Amino acid sequence: MTALRVNRMHHPVTVLGHGVRAGIWVQGCTIGCAGCASRDTWDAAAGEDVTPSTVVRWLNSLPGPIDGVTVSGGEPFQQPAQLAALLTELDGWRGDRDRPVDLLVFSGYSWPRLAARPDCADALARCDAVVAGPYVERRNSGTALRGSDNQEVVTLTALGGERYGDAGAMSTQAVQVSMDGDVVRLIGIPRRGDLDRMRAGLTARGIALEAVTWLG
Ligand code: SF4
Repeated sequence: MTALRVNRMHHPVTVLGHGVRAGIWVQGCTIGCAGCASRDTWDAAAGEDVTPSTVVRWLNSLPGPIDGVTVSGGEPFQQPAQLAALLTELDGWRGDRDRPVDLLVFSGYSWPRLAARPDCADALARCDAVVAGPYVERRNSGTALRGSDNQEVVTLTALGGERYGDAGAMSTQAVQVSMDGDVVRLIGIPRRGDLDRMRAGLTARGIALEAVTWLG
């Protein structure tokens, strides 16, 4: 079984890594960080199974250049074999592109824990960089790429080092908004309190949000 359980895929993503990217959010996470903005990705039974070849067909259908693919969640490393199958397929796909494409994965596990897990080795071997560590709301300090400053940006290849080796010098956290029918999606890493401030601002303007993913 190589299909990855996926919450959604989106392009373009401009706030989760270098350049213009394709984003894949996996479904399923049991880590349970307080303040998680993506509770809709927790239930492993939700979402849909997506094969690596389906992802490649989707990537090939996208307009414009792609600088990288970001895999977030949910917790990608709770499906280590499926993640490795996807990244292996993407590694082959990017070899035919006319520009460098990096593979960046976000995980709620700390780097030492990921690096020690034999079942994660195949997936990690395909990553250019990993942003590792649980989200700790009190440590959300607006640091680029990281939801909270306990998280570690680990570079694993020369391309990863070039693009993410000096994450501290990158611009700060940013959020992008996309509409999908009557669903408003916020992509990226909000600063602490941003989501509640946004909800309060919309409520004050007479716009009620029926369901939000950052409140349990
Ligand atoms: S922040 Fe990430 S690792 Fe933490 S509970 Fe949410 S989806 Fe899981």
